[in-house]
Amino acid sequence: MPAQDTFENKIPILDNHIHLDPRGQMEENIKRFAKAGGTHVVIVNKPYREGELLETKSYQKTFDLTLSMADKCRESCPEVGVYVVLGPYPVDLLRLTEKMSISDAKKVMCEGMELAKKYVVEGAAIAIGEIGRPHFQVEHDIIKCSNEILTFGMECAKDAGCPVVLHTESASEAVWRELAEMADSVKLPREKVIKHFAPPAVQETENFGLFPSILASKHSVKEAVARSDRFMMETDFLDDPARPGAVLGITTVPKVTKMLLQNELADEDKLIRIHKDNAEKLYGIEM
Ligand SMILES: [Zn+2]
Repeated sequence: MPAQDTFENKIPILDNHIHLDPRGQMEENIKRFAKAGGTHVVIVNKPYREGELLETKSYQKTFDLTLSMADKCRESCPEVGVYVVLGPYPVDLLRLTEKMSISDAKKVMCEGMELAKKYVVEGAAIAIGEIGRPHFQVEHDIIKCSNEILTFGMECAKDAGCPVVLHTESASEAVWRELAEMADSVKLPREKVIKHFAPPAVQETENFGLFPSILASKHSVKEAVARSDRFMMETDFLDDPARPGAVLGITTVPKVTKMLLQNELADEDKLIRIHKDNAEKLYGIEM
């Protein structure tokens, strides 16, 4: 059987981290993903209307918008399995502290964690994320507060029995270790900590038992697949008309997967483990 047919018939292709935007071309993008061979996506909450959070001091509207965009994609493209991850975006802490005290800002974000947990428990979301801390240099009190909020988010995930999806600064060895110890402190299994935007750090000696979701550039994926099948792939697609091409395109994961198969860098079984078995085990879903 030609590789093309095999690919399209048998291998689930998951993009483990994309964003949609109410100003973007969300349904069109999901259709393009499907046409390229993609079968499943994880849609991660992001800030859409900053003013709204400051005004309502609640994540309710943001989360509901993410859920409704996911529903629209399910309706217009039923062949793609759509999953949702909800959580207070780490950089929101900076926006909130422009308008309120750091302790009030922390309260808003912790309530966001609890709301995300509720949606996971109800089955509307599969994980709490992306949560963590700003990816750029910030003042010490912001880091300290971010770590407290993150630890609380990890506790919520432990209670809900779901993973967290982490957004942090670039993952150095010290960062991986610190995040692993943070999970240990609230007894969230390290396995349930998904590091978004990860480099191909696929060995336990590199990732300290956390789960890498690797940015699907050809180079990174080739390196990862040569050494392991314990990782997922993502584009961090933004769907932001103001920042076209800011990250990887929506068809990247299917294209890279096809490239791996055609160049015999990974066989079908290995790709199924990466795209399906890992996600099913982590999120407790059936793809
Ligand atoms: Zn993201």
